[in-house]
Amino acid sequence: MYSEDQFIQLSALQHYLFCPRQCALAYLELSWSENLFTAEGRIMHNRVHEGKFEKRGDLIQTRGLWISSARLGLSGQTDLIEFHRTDDQDNGTRLPGYKSRWKVYPVEFKRGKPKSDHSDEVQLCAQALCLEEMLETTIAEGAIFYGKNKRRHAVKFDEKLRSLTEQTALQIHQMFESGITPKAEFSKKCKSCSLYEICLPKRTGTRGAVKRYLNKIISESITSGGKKI
Ligand code: SF4
Repeated sequence: MYSEDQFIQLSALQHYLFCPRQCALAYLELSWSENLFTAEGRIMHNRVHEGKFEKRGDLIQTRGLWISSARLGLSGQTDLIEFHRTDDQDNGTRLPGYKSRWKVYPVEFKRGKPKSDHSDEVQLCAQALCLEEMLETTIAEGAIFYGKNKRRHAVKFDEKLRSLTEQTALQIHQMFESGITPKAEFSKKCKSCSLYEICLPKRTGTRGAVKRYLNKIISESITSGGKKI
């Protein structure tokens, strides 16, 4: 169990999966820089959090809810949580002031389009794990709304995704405890990184360069019968 002062923000998981160095720069060294991508994302999130609570028939929607998990050491604010009334007595959660049970369905809003990695799904799954702990229920599914195609994409919280989410949270805690920011490795994704100017991956990216240098030395040694070493 983690104490509150050890909690990391839910959004850190997504940044860690994009690039561990970006996560460390933003949350460990607290240097957040805004580019076009993050600015548009922030405006969209602010709009989402404008409304707070709405009930329509068998659906309750609540926005901007603060959630946390002491087991995983996570906390943050949700975009949208839906509660769907259910007749299933074995599922769903109780809500204060209501007799029936409610199925919990988290929804996250993203500016762009679905990504090839699992970072958005992991962030949403982390929300589900927090809500399960807080509401003592099981959440099978949630959704990500992408601004680019204006559609909801359903996400099943299966064992594989739960395990990846828990592993990612653990790795971030270990990185924060070590206090060490990973070295830069320049790659294609650096072009869209909001911390490019702070990271300077071409100047600070020594790990990849050293690896390439060592590989070159080893391969030259092998082709020359090991005489160079
Ligand atoms: S510029 Fe590249 S290496 Fe540096 S933080 Fe961003 S993605 Fe990571």
